[in-house]
Amino acid sequence: MREISNKIENKINIINQKFENINNKMSEIDTKFESIFNKVVNQNQNNTKTQNDIESLLRMLNTNNNSVFSSSLNNFRNDSIIEFRGFKMRADVAAKFIKLEEMIKQEFPGRQIIITSGMDGQHMPGSKHYEGKAIDFVVEPLTIEESKKIEELAKKAGFDVYNEYIYDSPYKTGPHMHIQIP
Ligand SMILES: [Zn+2]
Repeated sequence: MREISNKIENKINIINQKFENINNKMSEIDTKFESIFNKVVNQNQNNTKTQNDIESLLRMLNTNNNSVFSSSLNNFRNDSIIEFRGFKMRADVAAKFIKLEEMIKQEFPGRQIIITSGMDGQHMPGSKHYEGKAIDFVVEPLTIEESKKIEELAKKAGFDVYNEYIYDSPYKTGPHMHIQIP
């Protein structure tokens, strides 16, 4: 009996050691990813190639959402402002938008999805736009009825939504969807 419990204890120790090794490797990968990301972001962002690189890194973050990369995204999400499709915003907001865009493309294949505002432009005082936490976008073409579906998808993707296809706002420039993170 004693011998068996010793054996089990040894095995458990080995497993714990392996887990520790894996955790160390994961944080190494996190650090690498973060430094690659920052390097790309700090390059000339008006450059099309850099823009594409940023977008593929963000896609990578999405596909690996629940593994290594999610913690690295956590590390730099708060202060990392990037230029995405020509608009400045936080990296995590852009990553979330890519996810939403894929959902919209599935529901409405062939429609154009165009960002119309990020941190730029005129918005309500205190707007999340100024923090890089909000995006305005349009889907073309889109009926009022269909805009309700987009609203639903945006909520599913984790955004707070203001449907300015339907509702008015003091700074409204035209029908569009306003999405933001808390
Ligand atoms: Zn807006």
